[in-house]
Amino acid sequence: MDLKSLSNEELKELVIKGEIGAAELTDAGICPTCFNRENGNILYGDDTGRMLYEDEDFECFFVGNPRADGHVAISTKKHFKDMMEIDDEICTKIFVLAKKVMNLIKDTYGAESVYLCTMCDGPMNHFHLQLIPRYSFEKRGSKNFVKPRFEYKEDTEKLNELRKKLDYK
Ligand SMILES: [Zn+2]
Repeated sequence: MDLKSLSNEELKELVIKGEIGAAELTDAGICPTCFNRENGNILYGDDTGRMLYEDEDFECFFVGNPRADGHVAISTKKHFKDMMEIDDEICTKIFVLAKKVMNLIKDTYGAESVYLCTMCDGPMNHFHLQLIPRYSFEKRGSKNFVKPRFEYKEDTEKLNELRKKLDYK
């Protein structure tokens, strides 16, 4: 089946029926992140409870499968496949925002440091930054980028504190 020739409505129906998911969309050259956003979180489910900040260019949110407490992602709203594709204005804005969020995560979570990585690769990706806290009981170093993932659990107090500091309503 050539998914690229289908309409958005037809694609939505296949997703709802469980016949296709992110992998199939990716293989067909359709960005799952954009598809999900344009169709009310149809693919990944409602993430409004994990949202920390939003403006016309970016979304900043707790990831659903974090590698550490306080693991946050910042994603562009517009589609770019990786950092090499973004224009200088978006580049400047996202790193200034990342710096602010990293400091807030460090304070709110009592992390010793916060790591930043972006490693979009492959035929279909949506540019995003990952901010991963490293705590005092953890060793320094790049192994922090591959800490085992676990299911996100809401810490309402910290969520609200970060939202307040980022002026997110
Ligand atoms: Zn995209």
